[in-house]
Amino acid sequence: MPATAQITPSPLMPEAAVRKHLELAIQASLKTQHRLAALLAAPDAETQWDQGAESAWFLQYSDRKLRKLLQIFSRVAEILQHPNLKIVCDDKFPKYGEAHPFIKRIKLGKAWAEASASERTQSLVHEASHIAGRSIINEGDWYGQQDSQARAASSWMFNMRATRNADSLGYYAMDIAAGKVTLFQ
Ligand SMILES: [Zn+2]
Repeated sequence: MPATAQITPSPLMPEAAVRKHLELAIQASLKTQHRLAALLAAPDAETQWDQGAESAWFLQYSDRKLRKLLQIFSRVAEILQHPNLKIVCDDKFPKYGEAHPFIKRIKLGKAWAEASASERTQSLVHEASHIAGRSIINEGDWYGQQDSQARAASSWMFNMRATRNADSLGYYAMDIAAGKVTLFQ
């Protein structure tokens, strides 16, 4: 898993720290990709989904949703490992990060520098999902673990919505990375 991105460090965000979290974000994305591929091949995919982290972040199972998530995480893993990915650290930028669809560039800010270790890794998965084209209207209402899950639950009739929310994707990957589900059972 090469973390080959070109990193522009800042006083608060030294290159080694950024690269370490990039490596963790790549591992989390690959593990999530493998989990989703295994689910897709499993005869009891729906039962595993219901008992796993998937139902917490993305609610009810559907074949379409599972395929979409696998597609997203294949892309996220590819983006994070891409040698042309640029990560630019800016101590004056107040937010965690920023990224735009189809442009392989992540800006990290002061909030990222001050965040917990797992939030830093989560942020990189979050921003890579924006590069992969995932975004949602009023994203700020979906920030954080609690709001992500609550919003997903309250928009259950819009079945695919949580798969567009970068924080839902990021926290889901962190759950998979933390081994909150049994892989390849
Ligand atoms: Zn975002």
